[in-house]
Amino acid sequence: MAHNVKQEKVVRLLADEASSFSCLLDAVSPVQVMSFGGGVQSVAILVLSAQGKLPYKHFLFANVGDDSEYPGTLEYFRHVALPFAESEGLHLWEVRRRMKDGTPETLIGRLRRTKSSISIPIRMQNGAPGNRTCTTDFKIKVIAKELKEMGATKENPGIVGIGISTDEAHRANNRTVIAWERTEYPLLKLRLSRSDCARIIRDAGLPEPPKSACWFCPFHRPSEWQRLQREEPELFQKAVELERFINERRRRLGKDSVWLTRFGKPLDEVFSVTQTELPFELDNCESGYCMT
Ligand code: SF4
Repeated sequence: MAHNVKQEKVVRLLADEASSFSCLLDAVSPVQVMSFGGGVQSVAILVLSAQGKLPYKHFLFANVGDDSEYPGTLEYFRHVALPFAESEGLHLWEVRRRMKDGTPETLIGRLRRTKSSISIPIRMQNGAPGNRTCTTDFKIKVIAKELKEMGATKENPGIVGIGISTDEAHRANNRTVIAWERTEYPLLKLRLSRSDCARIIRDAGLPEPPKSACWFCPFHRPSEWQRLQREEPELFQKAVELERFINERRRRLGKDSVWLTRFGKPLDEVFSVTQTELPFELDNCESGYCMT
């Protein structure tokens, strides 16, 4: 109950801030884009923009790599969201992180290549997620670079819409480290929850997208790992092997083990038996660039 009251307060504050900030910037900002995460919230914003209820015309999908994004998200993006955006005259496109020589870098490629640090929120022995750079490097900076190329400047910052819904209002904070960018939260402004978003998508005649996140993300709920194991065993096995690969390399470097779940043991041991319930609540990507 206390959590709900706090959440409602955050929603009101951010909606008011977003509203006054947008009004201020609408007059001067040359650029306004939406960070398209590929999930329910982003797709609902796409639909609402097509219906003229939100002002976005440009949607940027920061793809962390075809080998790293959840395949269902890519499938939805290419076969549902893109054709829908095109038919509605909206501009939806992919942006990717590139290395110095210009070749695209993928998140799993970096995980396999970099020995000294782990970019994802890998879990320590106590279950807590470690520091991560994945969201910043593969999403926030990639979108910011595009925004700059579209004309945003420090003096005249562009606006990035983030698809955080009211049930996750605690993830919104209006903080940004990018000098030429400001963030806003259109779903908070409209007071829409995740289930409202799902209804908006269904009412538009579109299928609901799967939850968007990298298939190996340590922020997955146990129920998502269980679903993956049950419905997509090959992908689950790839995650098992990735965790094993990271730990074998760490062992060679004399470092302790780390995990994709909070349970302090290998993924295939955690889910070795069918469990109907696990004592658990999730950490989450607070930026709003992932899982929206
Ligand atoms: S979904 Fe998870 S692993 Fe992927 S970029 Fe976001 S926080 Fe990192």
